[in-house]
Amino acid sequence: MVVTIDGPSGAGKSTVSRRLAAELGFAYLDTGALYRAVGLAASVQGMARETSEAVIAAWLTRVDITAKPERGRFVVYLEDRDVEAFIRNEEIGGIASRLSAMAPVRGFLLSLQRRAGQAGDLVAEGRDMGTVVFPQAQVKFFLTAQDAERARRRYEELKPGRPELTLAQVAGDLAARDGRDQGRSLAPLTPARDAVVIDSSKIGVEEVLALMLARVREAGEAT
Ligand code: C5P
Repeated sequence: MVVTIDGPSGAGKSTVSRRLAAELGFAYLDTGALYRAVGLAASVQGMARETSEAVIAAWLTRVDITAKPERGRFVVYLEDRDVEAFIRNEEIGGIASRLSAMAPVRGFLLSLQRRAGQAGDLVAEGRDMGTVVFPQAQVKFFLTAQDAERARRRYEELKPGRPELTLAQVAGDLAARDGRDQGRSLAPLTPARDAVVIDSSKIGVEEVLALMLARVREAGEAT
């Protein structure tokens, strides 16, 4: 079974997706990490500001990104390096968000993501899991939260490492990223028609998880 979880930044997708995968014994695929790995490769190889899709398409033929299942989750590699320690920052997130609007980048990652879905039961997290990558997924969720709440959560997350950061800056960055993700013509961030929409503004992780587990179990019993 494939379970998809889409939604904007800061809605709590990662925590919930990881926990849901663990509870169900499914593998976990964080597709944002794949886009971030492309962002990292672009940053290292001087392509971060490239705007020509043809140049990006040619460059991607030389980029080696893989997702390997390891202990219940897909680990993303750029060549032979696990990228996790290098991709969780706003700079790489911004580059990933800009490049992710380009057709060659989305095409490059599409088969890689679908292959993960063929390997067995999966919880796949991203922006277009239920709409584009796994349109046939048995259970789809769209996890969201009010803008101010998402900004507050992201601020609390980043503050320890960057005390100079203000809530207003974080809110501004988030709004810019949301605008790009929702406004792009390719695979824009939007709930799939058959997605269960969950607003996590006023409910905690445990409650979100309980709702999702109940829905997945219901779907499992129906098949
Ligand atoms: O989820 P995360 O913040 O790690 O994703 C980084 C960026 O990658 C997002 O802002 C989005 O632009 C892009 N992305 C995407 N499609 C996905 C996952 C991420 O376009 N399925």
